Amino acid sequence: MHQTKRPGADSSVSIIGAGIAGAWQALLFAQAGHDVTLHERSDASLMLSTSHWAGGMLAPYCEGEVAEPIISRLGLRALDLWRRELPDTPFNGSLVVAHPRDRNDFERFARLTDGHQRLDAAGIAALEPSLEGRFREALFFPGEGHVEPRRVLPQLHQRIIAAGGTVTFDSDVDADRIDGIVIDCRGLAARDHEPSLRGVKGEMILIETSEVRLSRPVRLIHPRWPLYVIPREDNLFMLGATSIETEDSGVSVRSALELLGASYAVHPAFAEARILEFGSGLRPAFPDNLPRITVRERRLAVNGLYRHGFLIAPALAELTLGYVERGQIDNEVMRCA
Ligand SMILES: Cc1cc2nc3c(=O)[nH]c(=O)nc-3n(C[C@H](O)[C@H](O)[C@H](O)COP(=O)(O)OP(=O)(O)OC[C@H]3O[C@@H](n4cnc5c(N)ncnc54)[C@H](O)[C@@H]3O)c2cc1C
Repeated sequence: MHQTKRPGADSSVSIIGAGIAGAWQALLFAQAGHDVTLHERSDASLMLSTSHWAGGMLAPYCEGEVAEPIISRLGLRALDLWRRELPDTPFNGSLVVAHPRDRNDFERFARLTDGHQRLDAAGIAALEPSLEGRFREALFFPGEGHVEPRRVLPQLHQRIIAAGGTVTFDSDVDADRIDGIVIDCRGLAARDHEPSLRGVKGEMILIETSEVRLSRPVRLIHPRWPLYVIPREDNLFMLGATSIETEDSGVSVRSALELLGASYAVHPAFAEARILEFGSGLRPAFPDNLPRITVRERRLAVNGLYRHGFLIAPALAELTLGYVERGQIDNEVMRCA
C-alpha cells in the first residue's frame, strides 16, 4: 500500500448500483461523513441485481479451495466489518461433508483449505442433529458466517439512511453526467466501461421443509455436483449453486436435477420439501476472476466480485474510502487508469 494525492474528500459521493458492492461503499462513505447518494435502477426488490440471487456465505476459508489468496485476505478483513456493522450476523461456521466414495475429493479439500477442525460422526451430530448418522466425518470451519441477501441488503440500505446518506431506487443514472466523486458498482451493466467483464451463471433453488434443521451452510463434496445447502429463516433452504460460463439466465433441467439430487444426498428428507423458487444470477467477473477497483481520478469503479461479493464487499469499500480520504493505493486490487 502506498500514498498518493487524494482526489478531494469534501465532495459529494454518488454510488451507482445498490447491490452488495454499492451498499457497502455507500455505508462506509456515509459513516465517514460524506454526502452520499446511492442510485439503483431497479426497485427495492433488487430483482435486477446479482446480489438478489446469492447464497450469502461469508466463507474465506472454504473459498481457499478455488480462490487466490487475495480473496482470503479481503474476506478475513470483511468478516470484522460484518461483525462491526451487523452484529447479529450468524457466525456459526460452515460444515463440509462427503460420502465415503468421495473421500479423495474430501481429503483434497482439506489439504487446500485451513481454518477447519475434523469432526467424526458424533461431532457432526452434536453440531447438526438432523445430520446424525448421515456422514462419518466432516470439516468444520468455525470462523465462517452467512447472511440472507434478501434481508441484509435492505438492512444495509437502512443503515446508509441512518448514517445520513440517501438511497434512490428507480434511478438509472449515467456516471459521466454526475459531478463529484462517483463510485461505479453496476456489476455486469458496467461493461460499457469494462469490456472484459463477463457473466458466470449461478443457479439456485429455494425449498421449504420442517423435517430438516440446520444452523449453518453445509457443503457437499461431490465430483460432479459441488453443492451447498444454506438454512434461511422459516424452514427455508437455498440450494446452490452452479457455475456455468454462459450469460443465458434460465435454469436448465440438468442443473435443477443436479441441485435437487445433491440435496437429497445431504438428507433424504429434502425429497419431500416444497420447491418455492428456481432462479439464477450472472456473477460479474474479469478474465482472472479477481476483483478490481479502477481509479480514474474522481471516478472509481468496483467490480469483478465474481463468486465472492458478500464475502469481500466490505473490505473493498474500506479500500476505496482509504483512497478518497488518504490517497492510499492497494496494489493488489487497485488499477489507476
Ligand atoms: C447463485 C449465486 C450464489 C452466490 N453465492 C454467493 C455467496 O454465497 N457468497 C458470496 O460472497 N457471493 C456469492 N455470489 C456472488 C455474488 O452474488 C456477487 O459477487 C455479487 O452479487 C456482485 O455484486 P455487485 O454489487 O457487484 O453486482 P450486483 O448485485 O449485480 O449489483 C449491481 C447493481 O447495479 C444496478 N445498476 C446497473 N446499472 C445501473 C445504472 N445505470 N444506474 C443505477 N443502477 C444500476 C443493478 O440494477 C444492480 O442492482 C453468488 C452469486 C450467485 C449468482
